[in-house]
Amino acid sequence: TRAYNFSAGPATLPESVLRQAGEELLDWRGARASIIELSHRGPEFMQVATEAEADLRTLMSIPDSHAVLFLSGGATTQQALLALNLAAPGQVADYVVTGHWGKTAIKQAQPYVAVNVAADGDGGGFRDIPPATDWRLTDGAAYVHVTANETIHGVEFQHTPDVGDAPLVADFSSSIAAGPLDVSRYGVIYAGAQKNLGPVGVSVVIVRRDLLERTGHARAPIFDYARHAQAGSMLNTPPTFNWYLAGLVFKWMLAEGGVEEFARRNARKAAALYGAIDGSGGFYRNEVAVAARSRMNVPFFLHDDALDKTFLAEAKEAGLIALKGHRALGGMRASIYNAMPEEGVQALVAFMGDFQKRHG
Ligand code: PLP
Repeated sequence: TRAYNFSAGPATLPESVLRQAGEELLDWRGARASIIELSHRGPEFMQVATEAEADLRTLMSIPDSHAVLFLSGGATTQQALLALNLAAPGQVADYVVTGHWGKTAIKQAQPYVAVNVAADGDGGGFRDIPPATDWRLTDGAAYVHVTANETIHGVEFQHTPDVGDAPLVADFSSSIAAGPLDVSRYGVIYAGAQKNLGPVGVSVVIVRRDLLERTGHARAPIFDYARHAQAGSMLNTPPTFNWYLAGLVFKWMLAEGGVEEFARRNARKAAALYGAIDGSGGFYRNEVAVAARSRMNVPFFLHDDALDKTFLAEAKEAGLIALKGHRALGGMRASIYNAMPEEGVQALVAFMGDFQKRHG
């Protein structure tokens, strides 16, 4: 009787993963202790950690040219760390801003780099991705930063942008492993886990190894990606429970058919939901340009916002929770990550149709 949970993050997790974590919580596979009670350097957790990295590498086809880090701190922390690690003091970094999280990325990097806003979708209310031909990229930039999927505005890059020589750095917090990706085209891919990968408290950073040799800024060892890579992300005590749970999610995704299968499911879910919105004759609307619509986060508005409260209350009654839009936008938002079953989206679509009949 679990609800279908459309939260943007922390977000719904596969039921089988939660069950397994529950079953293993007191006694991890005969260790007679929980995995979160054991040393991160002991054989039990080392097995968990090694398998998680290997599984993520398989799942995302991550090439050897890239290191994989499991770090405590959220995506916001990485937005500061990547500037510290990749840019020399005073060096320019280009930012393409397509929503709220692009702006956050700038805020976190600004103390360390000379930010050039190469393109900004704010003028259009973040309803589209500014055309690449209009981007004002800097020769010799330390990197070019994009937000692959804007969780609040529901704007997603459908293709990897071509940014020339500077390494492409991308915030994939809300779309990592949603479908196949050519990782080799990216300098850094980073993501907080709490949407597609597991519980909040661990971030995955996939970084091209040659970038680890950059001098960057003077920084404490704990802020140094290269040291984390050398230490297997165990420079200090890592967030073992989160790492372990993310590892269970990776195994679940592989067992379900990998990112190709999730790409198919996610396309079907998104098509059903956008179809219901667009086919409602204006009762519901999504304002994002069709070519930039997110597969993962679908913001939508009712034609009369006086109905919002009733919509949310009735949805909850129908077992559909966490549909309230982000306060920056208002309205509704359905986050339909990998772990949201197709039946959940079908239930939402049916509810929306029924709600319209009764209130339209
Ligand atoms: N980037 C994106 C795309 C997000 O959706 C979020 C959180 O929702 C963040 C960054 C911030 O992540 P965290 O709260 O893990 O720092």
